[in-house]
Amino acid sequence: RQWDEIDCAAESTRLKDDWERLQTSRQYADIMTSRRSLPVFKRKSEILAGISCNPVTIICGETGCGKSTQIPQYVLEKEIEMGNGGSCNIICTQPRRISALGLAARVAMERNEVVGRVVGYSVRLDSCCSKFTRLLFCTTGILLRRLLSDPELEGVTHVIVDEVHERTLESDLLLLLLREHIQRTRGKIRVILMSATAETSLFSDYFQQGLGLRPELLRVQGFTFPVRELHLDDVLELTGYKVTKNSRFATNKKAKSEVMTTSASNSFDSWESRVGENSETNMEYSEATMRSLDTVDESVINYELIELLLSTVFSLEREVSDIYGPLVAVDDTSNWKPEAGSVLVFLPGMMEISKLQARLQNSKQLSAYGVEKKWVLALHGSLSSEQQKRVFVRPPRGVRKVVLATNVAETSITIDDILYVIDTGRHKEMSYDHSKGLSCLQETWVSKASCKQRAGRAGRVQPGCCLRLYSKKQFKAFDDHQLPEIQRVSLEGLCLKVKSLLQSKVQSTLSKMPTPPDPDAVIAAVQSLKDINAFDAENETLTPLGRHLTQMPVDARVGKMLVFGCMLKCLDPVLTIAASMSGRPVFFSPQDNREEARLAKLRLSGTSKSDHIALVAAYNGWITARRDGWEAEKDYCASNFLSREALASIEASREDYLNVLRELGFVPGDISSLEASSNSVRVIKAVVCAGFYPKIARVRHPEKTYVQTEGGTVPKLAAAHEVQYFTRLDGRVFLHPASVNFSAGHFESPWLVVTDMVKTSKVYARETSMVPAYSLLIFGGSISVRHERQMIVVDGWLEFEAPARIAVLIKELRKRVDALLLE
Ligand code: ADP
Repeated sequence: RQWDEIDCAAESTRLKDDWERLQTSRQYADIMTSRRSLPVFKRKSEILAGISCNPVTIICGETGCGKSTQIPQYVLEKEIEMGNGGSCNIICTQPRRISALGLAARVAMERNEVVGRVVGYSVRLDSCCSKFTRLLFCTTGILLRRLLSDPELEGVTHVIVDEVHERTLESDLLLLLLREHIQRTRGKIRVILMSATAETSLFSDYFQQGLGLRPELLRVQGFTFPVRELHLDDVLELTGYKVTKNSRFATNKKAKSEVMTTSASNSFDSWESRVGENSETNMEYSEATMRSLDTVDESVINYELIELLLSTVFSLEREVSDIYGPLVAVDDTSNWKPEAGSVLVFLPGMMEISKLQARLQNSKQLSAYGVEKKWVLALHGSLSSEQQKRVFVRPPRGVRKVVLATNVAETSITIDDILYVIDTGRHKEMSYDHSKGLSCLQETWVSKASCKQRAGRAGRVQPGCCLRLYSKKQFKAFDDHQLPEIQRVSLEGLCLKVKSLLQSKVQSTLSKMPTPPDPDAVIAAVQSLKDINAFDAENETLTPLGRHLTQMPVDARVGKMLVFGCMLKCLDPVLTIAASMSGRPVFFSPQDNREEARLAKLRLSGTSKSDHIALVAAYNGWITARRDGWEAEKDYCASNFLSREALASIEASREDYLNVLRELGFVPGDISSLEASSNSVRVIKAVVCAGFYPKIARVRHPEKTYVQTEGGTVPKLAAAHEVQYFTRLDGRVFLHPASVNFSAGHFESPWLVVTDMVKTSKVYARETSMVPAYSLLIFGGSISVRHERQMIVVDGWLEFEAPARIAVLIKELRKRVDALLLE
């Protein structure tokens, strides 16, 4: 709207004059030389002709060709030259905030301007633009939100969607809305899709089906400086870890420490010879390394190795080793020599970043290698724009810069002093676990395409080097590309997002997406969201709970548990339960020791009749045992049949969830809310019930039988195999022997919440908690009261006898819970 506040004609003239002046200025000559050297420059006129003649143009530009920085500028310059500068309005979307910030800064710099005038950006919670802004870099979410309030995109002339190949849900939704916009307005806006991969037929077909015309397709080759890629095998050798004959990696602590303390010998050669002298090995380390080398589905982030690698990189710079030649791929034809380069480390998540950051900040090892002054900067999605921008600043002479980043640094950004990339090959992504019916944030290997992008960050403005913490063999087994988000996340998550972004009917919207999901599955997902009260049962609008859940990048049920855990002040145990749901099993059940393992779990569960409480006890016990040292920790895990790795991964996921809750303001920044957590078994089980209703099983006893005892005739307790369990969802189910309730003879309450159901020959409930009827009445589905029969009915399914005053009380309690959700 700011657009009509300026005098367009005068602004067009001013922009044209400024542009003509800039082109003849001296400082522009250098910039123009580098702009001209980019591959897109040769295709400039073709690209501009394509855009002006077609409502939709697809530009497939390989990485480094200049698509993100140049194409939006070409469009802007052409409009200015044609005298339309004052009235054009170009929006270029980016999947991530950091790219929008970086591109706006670069493009403004190339035009010798400040950000916020002609070139600006707009991202969540931060924007730098004005009524004079003609080219706006923004996140996809920002444009989607604008489309909600301004579906006609008043005044916009061009929309450029960058990185469409990443197939995020938001960019897919944007394509749907842009296609509808073109249909409605007959192409009032020019749409340009930019992709870094050659696979563009999906987009082309999508627009052809909707519009009846094929988009113009242009391909541009990429350009990156040579990047030397070293895999784990080479990396280990480089850092002094040796491959022994039986292919085990062994390291020599003694030799390493000698090198570390002898400043004169911090070169590769002397290190090599020292390592060779001693045959002492450190088995613990070699096993960890083995694991990360030989299996593709399991890996550990090896902080020690990364620290060592950084030291090596810094000390080896400019040195030539016999084995590798210069570390950085030097171009023989130019006399280019590496500067003191900065390092970009790719890690899976925030927690790993904080851990490494703390380690590096106090690193004696780096100091031993002469690195005294350093900037160790974090880069992830939860930082403010101000914090994110710091990674672009060049360090002063003598200061080494290390950027620790998640995959937000993978594409579309150029940090021009990065010479080295260290890639752990890991990232976290939402993925759907069918057996649990949950989607979880899981740490996995990245795709080959991501590896290429990550390595490429070292070769943007000069030759570089990428050190990969995975072997060539592992790399071969990686997927080629990541699946589109729409195929990765649970449909519940998808429906929540669509609803929050577009407020439209979920089913019809999803059916028009570039890859529409199965319509029956969408119906089931909408029902499930109604069941947990995220969608209103009648008109499918978001409830207050639903609105909270749309903000949380976690499964809807897990999200609900976390919200209720905060509300009912038992977050600490609930975090443990939520975190366990995305990981491996904590409890072992070894074939030859099954009974002992079962008893150990039963002991942990106490009298709770709950697998969830057993888990919380196991985790808390582990934290306590760990304080007494490694031996105590090992004994504790062994005697309780617990997996240490699974417990450690719970610890990491707890941190992730806690950060999500902190960001949303559910918990304060310090840990006071965790320390004040209640450990009431009843409350914790009620929270699990709130999250997983209607995954409820009802225990049905067989006809009562009586047995004769010394004291007379008493009812016989039903054995596990005699009782039957029914759920609304799956009919008859069986209790899994791994559940503590498998052997529960006596049932105080016939209700079990089931959080893990597996289907083999039968349907088994594997993780259960027995809950009293009150939990269902207060936290279950919607209730109706049948006064005449003194009954409360939950969702027309569960019937409870209850006198009128209890019904009043329950209604009152429910109102309070609803009020809490609104706060
Ligand atoms: P693409 O989107 O095709 O991958 P970009 O347009 O982002 O490429 O960048 C093209 C090239 O421009 C980079 O490879 C780099 O050489 C140069 N470049 C871009 N941004 C910067 C920057 N901030 N500093 C220095 N050079 C840059």
